[in-house]
Amino acid sequence: MATKRAPKRAYSDDYLKFGFTSIVIEGIEKTQCVICLKVLSAESMKPFQLKRHFEKEHPTYNDRDVSFFQRQSQSVKKSRLDTTGQTAITIRATVEASYVVSLRISKSKKPHTIGEELVLPCTKDIVRIMIGADAVKKLSSLSISDNTVQRRIQEMSEDIKTKLWSKSNTHPSLFCN
Ligand SMILES: [Zn+2]
Repeated sequence: MATKRAPKRAYSDDYLKFGFTSIVIEGIEKTQCVICLKVLSAESMKPFQLKRHFEKEHPTYNDRDVSFFQRQSQSVKKSRLDTTGQTAITIRATVEASYVVSLRISKSKKPHTIGEELVLPCTKDIVRIMIGADAVKKLSSLSISDNTVQRRIQEMSEDIKTKLWSKSNTHPSLFCN
C-alpha cells in the first residue's frame, strides 16, 4: 500500500490566538484546547482546523482576544502540576453536567439554544447569589452551547441504539412480537 506521510507539524505560539496551547506527550509537542482540554493530533494542527474546533465547540468564545487565551493557557499549565487529581475530577464533572443538562433539554423538547441562552446564565445567577462568586468560576468550563447539546443528544441516542442492537442479538425474543 502506497502511503504518503503528511509532514509533521510543530506547535507554534501563533496558535494561542486560536485558543490552543502546547502540551508535550511522550516527547512530542502537541496542541491542546484551553477550554475543553482536547489534545489534537499532529495532522489536525492546521490553523483552519483549530479555528473550526472553536467555531463548532466553543462559539461563545469566538470573540475573545489573545490575552484571554493567554490567561486560560497559564491556568491549564498550572493545573497540569496538580497531582491531587482534582483537575481530572473537575473535567469529568463538567462533561457529566453537560450530558445531564442536554438530556433534560431533550426530554423537555425545548430548543437546543436554551442551554446557553437561559440555563447557563440562570445557573450562574443562582450559584453567585446562593454560594458565591468564586463558585461561578467553576462553571466557566461548562459547555452547553447549541452545538454541544445537539452532539450530546446524538451521542446518547447512538449509545441507546447500540445497546438495544447488542441486546436484540443476545436475546432476539425480546424484540419479537
Ligand atoms: Zn475545545
